[in-house]
Parts: sequence; C-alpha cells; structure tokens
Amino acid sequence: MYKSVVIGTGPAGYTAAIYLARANLEPLVIEGPQPGGQLTTTTDVENFPGFPEGIMGPELMDNMRKQAERFGTEFKTGWVTSVDVSKRPFTLKIEGADDIVAETLIIATGASAKYMNVPGEQDNIGKGVSACATCDGFFFRNKKIVVVGGGDSAMEEANFLTRFASEVTLVHRREEMRASKIMQDRARGNSKISWALNRTPLEVEASGMGVTGLKVRNNETGEEEVIKTDGLFVAIGHKPNTDFLQGKVELDAQGYVIVKPGTSETSIPGVFAAGDVHDTKYRQAITAAGSGCQAALDAEKFLEGNATHDWSGN
Ligand code: NAP
Repeated sequence: MYKSVVIGTGPAGYTAAIYLARANLEPLVIEGPQPGGQLTTTTDVENFPGFPEGIMGPELMDNMRKQAERFGTEFKTGWVTSVDVSKRPFTLKIEGADDIVAETLIIATGASAKYMNVPGEQDNIGKGVSACATCDGFFFRNKKIVVVGGGDSAMEEANFLTRFASEVTLVHRREEMRASKIMQDRARGNSKISWALNRTPLEVEASGMGVTGLKVRNNETGEEEVIKTDGLFVAIGHKPNTDFLQGKVELDAQGYVIVKPGTSETSIPGVFAAGDVHDTKYRQAITAAGSGCQAALDAEKFLEGNATHDWSGN
C-alpha cells in the first residue's frame, strides 16, 4: 500500500510528486502512454518562470521528473482502467498489472486534444490529419497545411508549422479569436500564414494517398468551398482524461473533476485533483504545477488525521 499515488505525469503530477516525496510520503506516480503530458508535444515554453530564454517542453518535463525521482518518487508505467474509491484505502485497477492500493489519490491525468468529429477526420488520422504539430509537422516539408482553431494552440501550431510547410492556412469558424494578443500578433506577422476566418469545417476530403482538402462553409455567404491542403492540424482545445472516473468522483458536464473552491479536494475525501483535469479556466503549465503543489499539501494534511494504517513504524 502507498501513502499517496499520483495518476498522471504533466506539470501537476510531477509537482505533486516532488512535494509528496520531500514530505517523506514515498509517492508512486503512474505514468500513462504519454509521459510528461501535453508539454512533451510543444516546442519552446516561454512563459514558465525561471527560464528567461525559454525552455523546450520535453526538457522541462524531464527536469521535473528527475526532481521528483531525486527525492524518492517511484514510477510505474500503466493504464488505470478503474478506481474503487467507495472505501479507503482506495484500489486502482491497472491494465495487465496488479492492483494498487493507496491511502490518498491525486488525479493529474490532464486533458487530450479534441477532434472536430466531421466526416473524413477520424479515417485520416495519421494520413494527413493530426493534432500535434511537433509530432507530425516534419512530414509536411514544402507542403500545404491547414490549421483549424482560433485559440493559442492554433496560433502556436500555425507558427511552428511554417518551419516546414510552403503555406499554412488558418481556418477559424468566427472572426474573433480566443488567442492572446501576443500569439495572434505573432501569427499575423508571419507571411507564410493566410487566414480563412468565418469558415466552419464540414468535411475532410482525401484520396487513397491522404488528405487533399478541407470542405468549409463560409459563414458570411453560406457557400461551401474546399481549401486544398496536404495536411490538416486540428487545434480546437482539449477534453479532460476522466473516463475512468465516471460515476466515481463528481465531474461536471464536460467531464472535468469538480473540486471544492480554493482546494484540490474532490467529492471523495482523500481523492485530490490537480492540473488540466479540473481546470477549465487557466490551463497553463505553471497553474498546473501550482495546483499539483496544492494537492500534495492537501493530501499530506489529510493523512495526518485520516490514515487507515499506522505508518509510524515505516
Ligand atoms: P481554446 O482556447 O479553447 O480554443 C479552441 C478554439 O477552437 C476556439 O477558437 C474554438 O472556436 C475552436 N473550436 C472549438 N471546437 C471547434 C470545432 N468543433 N470546430 C472548429 N473550431 C472549433 O483552446 P486552446 O487553443 O487549446 O487553448 C487552451 C488553453 O491553453 C488556453 O488557456 C490557452 O491560453 C492555453 N495555451 C497557451 C499557450 C501558450 O501560452 N503558449 C499555448 C497553447 C495553449 P470558438 O472560439 O468559436 O469557440
């Protein structure tokens, strides 16, 4: 049995582990299929304090992992299929591995890229459709690329993809962007990016060889048109990774874990949440790290009065 188990390895999970380990709680961190989380799919991180010249996302995550390891965090690779939080200690079912028992649980499973759910999209993932520019941009050297979205992710992906593509067209369903001014300005200033605003994506067109175009509706004229492209990058936000928590811990309508305001406490005492899995508003690496710290401190405090096992001899 573990005093504390952290599920997830983004900035929230690693920061929680650093704090738990330094408090001698000997945490176990369960790493999913994408260790390091979303930041491993980005390039330069320019807004994480302490790195005046910026730092590459994967390097930042690697550093956090090493820091957690240095204080005695144990890591286990696995996919959590379900949790039993109806009684304490809690039990976690891991695909193809033994169950794990924990006094406290920190859920830091983050969020995954959303897709548009238009015809032709799912069929062409890996054949021209992608949600990760840093993973797949290289395959589109001197080709045409469409990026869909109007938030910071879309601006960032579009800018990054101009390193490879001959031309990037940014398709957004409205005139106004959600993206921050600095990110918009950077994209606007990039001569390789052209803009197809007020266009709603309808269908991904493809030949047997891959993507050939994106059919859109022009929301000003109502007419349909096809934007020819070799690649399509979807950058329309994320959905929380909480399928395994359905019916176990209180979630909102979008599937985000609900926490008590100002804390990391979920509806189940002893289960805490940190990072994008519960954050519908800020969703930054630094806020995720901060909430990982909160969750670790909350778990530590909880254990002081609520342990099911006498840990004094340990
Ligand atoms: P977001 O801000 O939620 O933007 C998603 C965009 O996709 C919106 O413009 C939305 O259009 C559009 N969209 C959603 N569903 C769509 C659909 N089915 N079809 C077509 N378009 C669709 O998501 P995000 O850009 O991933 O950013 C999420 C958070 O991460 C933000 O807080 C952002 O600041 C942060 N972030 C920060 C950085 C950075 O600082 N370097 C980089 C990336 C992300 P509508 O506007 O019409 O709803």
